[in-house]
Amino acid sequence: MDTSFFLAWINAIATAVQAERDHLTQLDAAIGDADHGANLDRGFAAVRQALTDAPPQTPGAVLTAAGSALIRKVGGASGPLYGTAFRQMGRSLGDAAEITPEALAAGLEAALAGIQKLGGAAEGDKTLVDALAPAVRALGRAVQDGTKLTDALAATEAAAQEGARATVPLEARKGRASYLGPRSVGHEDPGAASTVLIFAALREAAG
Ligand code: ADP
Ligand code: MG
Ligand code: MG
Repeated sequence: MDTSFFLAWINAIATAVQAERDHLTQLDAAIGDADHGANLDRGFAAVRQALTDAPPQTPGAVLTAAGSALIRKVGGASGPLYGTAFRQMGRSLGDAAEITPEALAAGLEAALAGIQKLGGAAEGDKTLVDALAPAVRALGRAVQDGTKLTDALAATEAAAQEGARATVPLEARKGRASYLGPRSVGHEDPGAASTVLIFAALREAAG
């Protein structure tokens, strides 16, 4: 996976977030402040602009630039969290021109660790970690088993999707939704839903 693969991934995320903007906002209207779709759409528009203005020359630089733009542009919790995730992943990839599946899996582990260090959420707290953590595990397993990349990324997306769906019956313990206590039960977490888009875009980028 080269620089253009990572640019294609980020562009596919931006396209998906734009298409799903209203859906993400509806999810956030139920248990938050109805801005998740708008936050991410604004953020990924800024990411696209940043990548056009100063085209990065390595996969790591693509992710670092994307993360920095998200942190700069998004005021909500998701901006610093996703921004840190992309920056940590960029750092993990280093200045390699070609990324192996093993390095991709390690990069996503670094992204998850960055989010958990910043936000303090564990699995089961009804956050985007509930979609991200199982996806990272699924990719790690598939890569270790030598699964073909496109199949590995399909399994990764499925794990994220299942994790997001499993947030519905949970009571939120982190973020704005936690202010609702038991009233947060019965709704899918918006951040978990946007994490699914990120992994769907990754599978798409791999063709
Ligand atoms: P805000 O809640 O500040 O308006 P967003 O609506 O953009 O920000 O993002 C909300 C999402 O952020 C939640 O659905 C949840 O998945 C995620 N989130 C919030 N707090 C945390 C946290 N501490 N750790 C991980 N994810 C979090
Ligand atoms: Mg919100
Ligand atoms: Mg907000």
